[in-house]
Amino acid sequence: MRINIAIDGPSAAGKSTIAKELCKKLGYVHLDTGAMYRCTALKALRQGIAMDDEDSVCKMLAETEIVLTPDGRVFLDGEDVSKAIREDEVSMRASDVSKLQNVRRDLVKRQQDMAAAKGFIMDGRDIGTVVLPNAEVKIYMTASARARAKRRYLQNIENGIETSDIDTLEAEIKARDEQDMNREFSPLRKADDAVEIDTSDMSIEEVTERIYELARPFIETEGTE
Ligand code: C5P
Repeated sequence: MRINIAIDGPSAAGKSTIAKELCKKLGYVHLDTGAMYRCTALKALRQGIAMDDEDSVCKMLAETEIVLTPDGRVFLDGEDVSKAIREDEVSMRASDVSKLQNVRRDLVKRQQDMAAAKGFIMDGRDIGTVVLPNAEVKIYMTASARARAKRRYLQNIENGIETSDIDTLEAEIKARDEQDMNREFSPLRKADDAVEIDTSDMSIEEVTERIYELARPFIETEGTE
């Protein structure tokens, strides 16, 4: 049967990379929910809306189309912003905007509608706890802040994104973790029934295989529900 897989964890823990690999293996679709918060922040930045002005951000969001394509591109009101949303400035602003309860309400609803058909691997901060509390497989992925900063640095270079040095990235990652874990609404936390995987010393293949093994018993079960 087709299932949904929820992957949560702090910034740059490798969630998207693993989700993409696993999607190839399973023929599933990856939904990067962080991209939706990033699009919201990018549009607010461009329009000069303050990230704590909840009414204006929500009004803007209600008139915003965000499309995540199966090949991993992100369209904001028809514009390909796949690269623009990865800038360091947008990362922190996305964390700011994600504190707003009504922004979360809007985006969570969109995410739940998208995943209703099953066959999705969704990554974020609140997937196992709020968006898909009934997901068959829930993963909480972590790695040391240093390991995550190094990965993000290499990823930025590989993708041609202007990057800060590793020390600065590590400080930014820690600040974002702190903010995401301590916010009032849907803070980042491990769901009680999630399996925690520390990827600091694991290869992409090892992590992918580990989650695949957790998903296999469900996938091999007969039935559509
Ligand atoms: O995953 P990514 O780093 O792209 O997410 C950017 C920001 O969006 C996070 O720092 C977090 O504040 C927010 N976010 C969230 N809930 C999600 C996904 C992302 O609050 N499900």
